[in-house]
Amino acid sequence: MADAALGSERIPLRVAIVGSGPSGFYAAEALHKREDVVVQVDMFDRLPTPFGLVRGGVAPDHQKIKSVTKAYDRIAEHPEFRFYGNVEFGRDLVHEDLTAYYHAIIYAVGSRGDRRLGIPKDYLPGSHGAAEFVGWYNGHPDFRRLGFDLSGGTAAVVGNGNVAIDVARILASTPAELHATDMADHAVEALSASRITEIHVLGRRGPAQAAFTVKELRELGELEDADVVVEPADLELDEQTRAWMQANPDRSRDKILEVLGEFATVPRCRASRRIVFRFLVSPTEIIGDASVEALGLVRNVLYRENDGSIRSRPTDQTDRLETGLVFRAIGYRGTALPGVAFDEHAGVIPNVRGRVFDAGDPRVGEYCVGWIKRGPSGVIGTNKPDAVETAAALFDDFDAGLLERPDTPSREVLERLLAERSDFVSYEEWQLIDALERRRGEEAGDRPRQKFTSVEQMLGALAEASDS
Ligand code: NAP
Repeated sequence: MADAALGSERIPLRVAIVGSGPSGFYAAEALHKREDVVVQVDMFDRLPTPFGLVRGGVAPDHQKIKSVTKAYDRIAEHPEFRFYGNVEFGRDLVHEDLTAYYHAIIYAVGSRGDRRLGIPKDYLPGSHGAAEFVGWYNGHPDFRRLGFDLSGGTAAVVGNGNVAIDVARILASTPAELHATDMADHAVEALSASRITEIHVLGRRGPAQAAFTVKELRELGELEDADVVVEPADLELDEQTRAWMQANPDRSRDKILEVLGEFATVPRCRASRRIVFRFLVSPTEIIGDASVEALGLVRNVLYRENDGSIRSRPTDQTDRLETGLVFRAIGYRGTALPGVAFDEHAGVIPNVRGRVFDAGDPRVGEYCVGWIKRGPSGVIGTNKPDAVETAAALFDDFDAGLLERPDTPSREVLERLLAERSDFVSYEEWQLIDALERRRGEEAGDRPRQKFTSVEQMLGALAEASDS
């Protein structure tokens, strides 16, 4: 009998996906769309829970966005799909294991780190990366033990993206608004007792250059007990910006300016909390000895760069914001994986349309998707076409015969190896954790779920469920 071909029932094409956020799931879906090739997809995550930023990043009051996981459940139903949670790349499985056990690897690990401001005392206690705060309120096991001093009156949020808006909205929410979400209990408790009444959102450029989206901006005006403060003078656009807008028409940007205009003119309702937008300001230093006492600011002006973009540059006008709490919401940054090529400057895996490159040469059989491929931009849906592109690169290499290996161990062999190294969690076990969390949410009084926030709690709940 002739040898079976790679991609057949007998010798399936084995692909490891490292990371189980949206980009990983869309990659699995794109791989399984090809009907003439049998593809076994094994997805790994260092947590027992899948979904990456949908669980640990998307704001807890955005349950509708989180419902995208129903589509991931359907992707996971494919008979050739397996999930192995609680398996950390670099610890339980290393790069050499994956190259030995799979024909191809797709890195879908996102961007875990925060970008730095690069100002004096950037890291004084009281100054936090937004990723820490977001992870903390979302009950991510890495951040559950963090503490945030919410006893002062004012907080500063640096950045004008959607993460800055999320942070400001969560800080301005009432206890009832927080309770209605799946926010971790420790965060609901701490934020319900918060004394913060003034949240300053600081943009280094003007309102026309803001990176947030109109839906997220509008939601600030729907909060139960918060006023949104925009100075009408800040909406008067400079000549450079007007010329730039004319040359680059953008309906979404026009809408953002319209909503900011509404905030500037609607009468404030003397709410308990205020979200204050400030434009054309940059932090210059964090002031304080043992912890943040104030934030040094400089006023910026805009100028047109040679490439046509509008940038900011500092003037000699300085200011000082009295605050003990600063959140840096200035973008995320990818971190290197052991044994995998990494571009330190860009914070991504070097790649061409998803094919990993190392020192200018392709790493045959290695691919990437999502934020670790293109940087931290776009919404959840952006990852779909991005994953299709990466899957196409992988299939091109498959069709060219580049993924052939003399001997690739089966899934059974991999599972035996894994069982020696980790208490791995299957998709069915994750679904049990999910059901338990939802039941706890109902019992806690009409909450979408009550999260387990440590790996021990999750494994303990699984053990208890299998005993009973
Ligand atoms: P982002 O959209 O890239 O915004 C980063 C912001 O930080 C920009 O306003 C940027 O200003 C500013 N910034 C960067 N460096 C700075 C510095 N040194 N000093 C002062 N400001 C600085 O990043 P993000 O908010 O982290 O969001 C990441 C992605 O996730 C985005 O695509 C976002 O839309 C998405 N997201 C979506 C949702 C949602 O759909 N609800 C929620 C959260 C996040 P410049 O423009 O001047 O560089």
